[in-house]
Amino acid sequence: MSKGTVYLVGAGPGNPKLITVYGMECIQKADVIIYDRLVSKELLQYAKKEAELIYAGKEPGKHGNIQEQIHEWLVEKALQGKTVVRLKGGDPCVFGRGGEEAEVLAKQGIPFEIVPGVTAGIAAAAYAGIPVTYRNVATSFTIVTGHGRKEKGEDRIDWKALANGSDTIAFYMGVGNLSYICQQLIANGKPSDTKVAVIEWGTTEKQRTVVGTLQNIEETVKTAHISHPAIILVGEVVRLRESIQWFAELEGEWIEST
Ligand code: SAH
Repeated sequence: MSKGTVYLVGAGPGNPKLITVYGMECIQKADVIIYDRLVSKELLQYAKKEAELIYAGKEPGKHGNIQEQIHEWLVEKALQGKTVVRLKGGDPCVFGRGGEEAEVLAKQGIPFEIVPGVTAGIAAAAYAGIPVTYRNVATSFTIVTGHGRKEKGEDRIDWKALANGSDTIAFYMGVGNLSYICQQLIANGKPSDTKVAVIEWGTTEKQRTVVGTLQNIEETVKTAHISHPAIILVGEVVRLRESIQWFAELEGEWIEST
């Protein structure tokens, strides 16, 4: 039997309409869809009636060995000749382990394609009225995991380079680690009044945005009970929200704080 193809598909940042046309085509032709927790469930309704839908969600902080299981599913289903979609939030290769899954498939000689998606750091910012680059304000943009902590031996971030070398920074998976992030940026030279926005459930009808500075954002986030999933966006581009904000009427009462 010939091997099926695996499509590693980015579902986009939350709003189901933000998937690519090609990503949608893959969903429509899949025999098997293995999907993550942050994927909009609305997208699954475009699958074939007989398609097998497998939930592979990981709660933050509880990864277990689900990744191994996912690798097994991908290989097993493709060897059965099935068309497989591995559907991930945002872009499959931005903190999505798409690279690892592609490696497994390559090693097994299974044909695969990577279908890029709109990543949360850029999309949530845009929906909050914040362009991640802007002429004369921000000429560089860095995507960083906010997950690591020094005391846990997980922090591989060069904070000095980050604080001094990037105009805009988007931290993913960082909301539980916000005080450490702000503290590291300030300690390594970012001015404490640098603007910060935290955007929860970006691009969805549940989106909420709070704005502050490296000095006070932690307090603001606490008061508003902002939680996962959220993007922490650091940089002067956050100020542009004042003039560009367009989605805010849907964001409820949680607007600014400085
Ligand atoms: N591959 C994904 C990121 C996966 S890591 C992408 O490219 O977007 C998961 C992290 O992404 C979350 O902890 C959060 O920081 C961010 N995230 C995903 N969806 C989000 C959303 N709708 N709003 C804000 N942040 C989101």
